[in-house]
Amino acid sequence: MRIAVFPGSFDPFTKGHEDVVRRALPLFDKIIIAIGANSSKKYFFEEQLRIDFIKATFQDTDKVEVEAFQKLTADFCEDKGARFLLRGLRNGTDFDYEATIAMLNKDIGNGLETVLLISDAKYNYFSSTVVREILKGGKDVSMFLPGPVVAMLKK
Ligand code: ADP
Repeated sequence: MRIAVFPGSFDPFTKGHEDVVRRALPLFDKIIIAIGANSSKKYFFEEQLRIDFIKATFQDTDKVEVEAFQKLTADFCEDKGARFLLRGLRNGTDFDYEATIAMLNKDIGNGLETVLLISDAKYNYFSSTVVREILKGGKDVSMFLPGPVVAMLKK
């Protein structure tokens, strides 16, 4: 089984994240979207809600699972039998960060391979940070979020 772990904060999950997962689906048998729980970090959306947003987004496929994790990403991958990490790349800043983390994870994760997908041009400027800022400013964020997430936010 080719299992990939897609780790992130997903605060909240955007169309950019969804696009990375959907484009990676043909490459893997299973993708586990893993919400890193960092106790020193303050999140905008609580963990359970971030999980529910992602579950709602992928109701149409049973190849995607969602889980929160506490430990090192490499250890979580080992627990899950995942040999691949999935991440997205928007620009050079993402690249510099991802390259460093990918090398570290290969060392500590026994050859754990990071698969990086270049963002779709449509979503290149999407980020959870801009979504949070726009929400705080009271403006509509529908265009940045998967349909099911928008529906949940409207409730
Ligand atoms: P983290 O807190 O680990 O950076 P994020 O939730 O911000 O987690 O992002 C998780 C992954 O998704 C990262 O690899 C990030 O580069 C990628 N990503 C975020 N937004 C986009 C986007 N619009 N297009 C492609 N990849 C993206």
